[in-house]
Amino acid sequence: MGKIKKIGVLTSGGDSPGMNAAIRAVVRTAVYEGLEVMGIMCGYQGMINADFKPLQAHSVSDIIQRGGTILKTARCEEFRTPEGRAKAYVNLKEAGIDGVVVIGGDGSFTGARLFNEEYDIPFVGIPGTIDNDIFGTDYTIGYDTALNTVVEAVDKIRDTASAHNRMFFVEVMGAEAGFIALYSGIASGAEAIVIPEIKDDARNLKAMFDGGRKKSSAIIIVAEGDEGGGAFAIAESVKEDFKGYDIRVSVLGHLQRGGSPSAIDRVNASRLGHAAVEALIDAQKSVMVGLANGEITLVPFRKAVKLHKDVNHSLVALAKILSV
Ligand code: ATP
Repeated sequence: MGKIKKIGVLTSGGDSPGMNAAIRAVVRTAVYEGLEVMGIMCGYQGMINADFKPLQAHSVSDIIQRGGTILKTARCEEFRTPEGRAKAYVNLKEAGIDGVVVIGGDGSFTGARLFNEEYDIPFVGIPGTIDNDIFGTDYTIGYDTALNTVVEAVDKIRDTASAHNRMFFVEVMGAEAGFIALYSGIASGAEAIVIPEIKDDARNLKAMFDGGRKKSSAIIIVAEGDEGGGAFAIAESVKEDFKGYDIRVSVLGHLQRGGSPSAIDRVNASRLGHAAVEALIDAQKSVMVGLANGEITLVPFRKAVKLHKDVNHSLVALAKILSV
């Protein structure tokens, strides 16, 4: 394969704060390296529709501090089919794009892996999801900002919970992973944390409370993907156990995805964006750039998607100890 001259960049799947900082880093690194860059709009849909727009260094001015993604994102069913990917290939070829940076989650990486098994245009991924659930990287873009947003919200809920002696079940994002719940729970001093990685934790809530002193109010953080159901279902199922409390439920929802990215997200997204372009120049393909122990790593898509990243169980234990 010849030297890369023109790259494409897209954001796919759920948006997360810091994606713009990554786009900026991809574009600026490419310009620095003498490459042309095309923005591919709306994820893989833009590849299939040939919705491309040239990006220059100035196209990404004034975006590092913005949430969302200037390239828009989408879920694209057609890319799941060989016919859809064939259309994408033809369009990329016609536009002269000879390498692609995909900013997204594991679904996006699965699509990228399949494409790279079928076609010769290399794809490199950047982990962009607030859930932080991708194997091979300690960090995903948007996680830090989402965590800070949740902690700020829970602090506010805590004020009203203690004023009224209430027990609040606060549902946070994390369809299959409890990273946001666990970290925000520790950071906000939650009385209990319910996550998919720990089986039966919702059912054990009473035992947990009985073991400790009686508290006048309580915050229980629930990851939306817990097997006990969402916060409403769990609150309903345990209400008989907590008759002394006035129980309330708060679902934080999409506000967790928005907002200006934290400094950590901006710096890490900048590092990953730069590393992704360097990886394409180095003739890498079908890999994700990640951060492990503070250093850039390259992880094959196959591994990043297939292997499960577990939460740190010593932090689960810590949360329990600190909520006595
Ligand atoms: P998030 O973690 O935020 O959900 P994600 O990248 O996992 O992000 P998905 O909706 O799973 O989000 O995937 C994004 C897009 O990637 C899909 O809309 C589809 O275009 C493509 N994709 C996902 N899975 C596959 C697959 N098995 N084969 C081909 N393409 C896929």
